[in-house]
Amino acid sequence: MDVLILEPEFMVDFNGSIQQGPIIIENGRIVKDHPKHNGTTIRLHNQVILPGFVNCHSHAFQRGLRGLVEQKTDRIDSFFTWRERMYQLIESMSITDFSLLARLVYLEMLEAGFTHVGEFHYVHHDLKGARFKDPLAMSRALCDAASEVGINLVLLECAYNRANFDEPLLARQQRFGHPHVDDFVSLVKQAHRELENDHVKVGAAIHSVRAVPEAWLSPINEFVTHNAMPLHIHASEQEQDVADCLRHTGLSPIGLIHRNHLLAPHTTLVHTTHLINDDLEAIKESSPSICICPSTEKNLGDGVVKLLDLYRLGINICLGTDQHVRLDPFCEARSLEEQERLRLKKRTILGKPDAFLHQTLLNCLNTSGMRSLYPTFVPSRINQPANLIAVTLPPEYQWHGPQVALDAMMLSHTPAQITHVITNGHIVVHDSESQLAEKQYLINQLKKFFKN
Ligand SMILES: [Zn+2]
Repeated sequence: MDVLILEPEFMVDFNGSIQQGPIIIENGRIVKDHPKHNGTTIRLHNQVILPGFVNCHSHAFQRGLRGLVEQKTDRIDSFFTWRERMYQLIESMSITDFSLLARLVYLEMLEAGFTHVGEFHYVHHDLKGARFKDPLAMSRALCDAASEVGINLVLLECAYNRANFDEPLLARQQRFGHPHVDDFVSLVKQAHRELENDHVKVGAAIHSVRAVPEAWLSPINEFVTHNAMPLHIHASEQEQDVADCLRHTGLSPIGLIHRNHLLAPHTTLVHTTHLINDDLEAIKESSPSICICPSTEKNLGDGVVKLLDLYRLGINICLGTDQHVRLDPFCEARSLEEQERLRLKKRTILGKPDAFLHQTLLNCLNTSGMRSLYPTFVPSRINQPANLIAVTLPPEYQWHGPQVALDAMMLSHTPAQITHVITNGHIVVHDSESQLAEKQYLINQLKKFFKN
């Protein structure tokens, strides 16, 4: 029997409580005890074990844009000019390059402490926009990449049908679209049947109410509800999205989603930067999760989400790295609090009275993220698959004990302080030679794509 015993200074569980004692992993799961305690023991001196971080919003291929879209031009640069560059990137990306980038970015995520990722996947077709013989070819590339590096993937197959409310797909969006909702639902069904395994689960996404007709919303929601799947939707990221939706439907994107009964605990709204009118009331009534992507939202100049208003509703707030402008869960999490301090000109904003900052921020990084990607998830310490990270404690642990040390960690740590990453009971990251070689191989292979 495969037994791994971890002996950190202490562990933080999914509820944010500090636990003492060894962590025993048997056949990939955390167990209460093991009669003989024989197995491999790893003493984690000056380290804490945390539940693995959850990256709820990823477009793996957009990792290829990093550094390419930062040059100042004489035009007004915005989300929309960035989006043109993103279309250009995918226009020439073969399935092989797509797969190599996915492997690289999933490996980088693991190194950063993410043990789970939700891949919001809308590139379904070949370079000319024609269907692959295997309609799941691109999806399979993502699932294989995740399984090869050892990250847990929730593949969110994404519906996309048009450029805007009254505009058909543009030539450069042909790789994304499905003509009918039935085609799209069949794709999700097939993915559910063929791609799920220990590492991979399937859910669905609606790109946005701009890109998907209102008549599609209910059939997609019925399918995901029936199959207990998560449903993710980009919502109200840009003021333009809200204005277009108001003009065509008389409702905000969130109002339109609500009218079709899609707001529910299995649904995650991504961004929600520009809320208007009754949006908060609709969210309060139906408790969806909200996924914030601070680094991407800053990079794209989206605007600042009024997080405190959402936080007060008691809903799940989770995090994503979206276009992967950086992969640093500590930075994403602390940005939630820091952005609110700048916006409101106050301190210690999120969290309950007397709570430590880390309790709020770690909850966004793990428990809320798990609820967003796995709607039936129940937090518990025992009998969960062992998805854990070991992090070196800052000197504050010696000076002030665990609570202050964890707050200091959230303020100042980077992924460099993560020493071990464990998914489903296997150590997948600990600075090994083979891991460095794998990264170098992927970087070399991708040179050909970027040089063309
Ligand atoms: Zn996105």
